Amino acid sequence: MSNSPLSISARYFDGRSTQEYAVSLSIENGCVKLRGDGILRDEALTALEISERTRYGSRRISFAEGAYVEAFDRTAFDQLLAAAAIGESQVVRWQQSWSLTLAALVLTIFTLTVGYIWGLPWFAKGVVVVLPDTTQHSIGHTALQSLEGDFFEESKLPHTRQEDLRNRFNAAVQRSLGDQAPAYTLIFKKSKIGPNAFALPGGFIVMTDELVKLAKEDNAILGVLAHELGHVQHQHSLRNLVSASVVGVVAFMIWGDASSFVASIPTVLLQTRYSREFETEADTFALDFLRRAQIPPAAMAHMFRALQKSSGENAIPELLRTHPATEERIRRFESPDP
Ligand SMILES: [Zn+2]
Repeated sequence: MSNSPLSISARYFDGRSTQEYAVSLSIENGCVKLRGDGILRDEALTALEISERTRYGSRRISFAEGAYVEAFDRTAFDQLLAAAAIGESQVVRWQQSWSLTLAALVLTIFTLTVGYIWGLPWFAKGVVVVLPDTTQHSIGHTALQSLEGDFFEESKLPHTRQEDLRNRFNAAVQRSLGDQAPAYTLIFKKSKIGPNAFALPGGFIVMTDELVKLAKEDNAILGVLAHELGHVQHQHSLRNLVSASVVGVVAFMIWGDASSFVASIPTVLLQTRYSREFETEADTFALDFLRRAQIPPAAMAHMFRALQKSSGENAIPELLRTHPATEERIRRFESPDP
């Protein structure tokens, strides 16, 4: 006994008018066949599009020119596809299962988290390597300009004092690093955020008048500058900015608004916490720098303590951002490894 091919009832629309035609729908030898109501149509399956299975609603087979056939008996439609050995795509199956949807969501979040923690720093490190010096310089310069006014004004330190500190630091850099030193520009500013020092992309190191005044001895200032030069050497500021930009782009793709992020770039540069890893790297650089320049590192420890005391009334200075580890960091400078 030969099986007559399975056929189900469906409605055909020509795609040009709202007229519907009752048809029988069958699939044979890779061909969709429609019969009835003045309709006789055979089309190769490969030229057609079968709509995804949804929990509710009809199933539809669309023809290239816009006509389609619709079946409301979803079970019969599934049997028809099964008999013709047409599998649902994996994606369609996934969409139907809540547990799998949840699993996909968890996997997405997991991927984003792993990407954020490990992928992003890795990506940022790669990007800054290929970013031209001139670009880095203009990013830093632009940031510096937009911070002016809100956060800083012209330094009130006597010019001779500025020159003296600059010369001493330049000399220490020469002694410690010679021509291996990264390019840097030392800038003094009177600050509205208290004693602070930080490094911007392009090698700009900003030191506030308030920090200079807080230091009991100039060696402490040199220690702070050495720490900031460590951030310059490892391009920490730029790497943070690249990471924050990626987060901004992802946020834009999800929420469709980048304006608030773009507006916040200067503040990102000023206030983003360096990771503890970055701080440790900058401290290690500073310790090595001070040792080579024959400056006792203990001065830096005194500076940390003074900053700790003064940060009560001010924003937490860049140097103390990784707060829980401050004691441990101070100890490194008090008794550095031989
Ligand atoms: Zn730092």
